[in-house]
Amino acid sequence: MKIEVLEKDETNIRLSIKDADVTLMNALRRIALAEVPSMAIDEVVMIENSSILQDEMIAHRLGLTPLKTDLDTYNLPEECECQSEFGCNLCRVTFTLDAESTEGTRAVYSGELVSENPNISPVSDKVPILKLAKGQKLKLEAYARLGKGKNHAKWQPVSLCAYKYYPKIEVPIKECKDCTKCVDICPKKVYTMKENKVEIRDLLACNLCMDCVEACPTKPPAIKVEWEKNAFIMNIESTGVLPPERIIQEATKILDKQLKEFEEQLKVETK
Ligand SMILES: [Zn+2]
Repeated sequence: MKIEVLEKDETNIRLSIKDADVTLMNALRRIALAEVPSMAIDEVVMIENSSILQDEMIAHRLGLTPLKTDLDTYNLPEECECQSEFGCNLCRVTFTLDAESTEGTRAVYSGELVSENPNISPVSDKVPILKLAKGQKLKLEAYARLGKGKNHAKWQPVSLCAYKYYPKIEVPIKECKDCTKCVDICPKKVYTMKENKVEIRDLLACNLCMDCVEACPTKPPAIKVEWEKNAFIMNIESTGVLPPERIIQEATKILDKQLKEFEEQLKVETK
């Protein structure tokens, strides 16, 4: 298998993966969505709430605030040694929020959440939680823990995880005089026109929609769009809770663990 990083920044990674198959790609995609753990607020103790928003609504909004996750220090509560309903400092992080409006109406943002561990904090300080009018107060304690996207979307570490086949395009060799239909129709601007000839500007932008093939007036179409069966482009967009490359690394570890468990079970059954 050949993996190449095409693009990477803090929250996005784009990979070219060759000599793989679709079953593996889909398994990794689904594990990244549903099984890779991340941190989210799961319980809220409301001390004072004189805002117009109900406690449940505030708890829901807090739960959906992405939190920076540390998978090396914290355990999933079901796997933690403490086995306690209340959790311990290896499976739970406490946040406090104490907000009040003294003059006029103001918004309360995620940046006002105070964490007991500075490494576990909201990804962005600018997530609005609610608005407080003059004299209103919100005081609470919230507990975050690791969880999985299959149980609640708030624990999903990715906002996008998808793959597509690697495109293979053959442009007409002859000059295409007075016809730029394929260039004009392409929604992804894959082609460009150079001296009356169609040229590929950005091959990897192609999403195999086939609009260019249909638009070609020649019969059979002068342009040929195909895909490679064993090559893929994978896009992973993290919500910011974990670096995108870590998400895919964790997904491979989980797949490996699941296969080992499967093998173990199989051994037991065939004894
Ligand atoms: Zn614990």
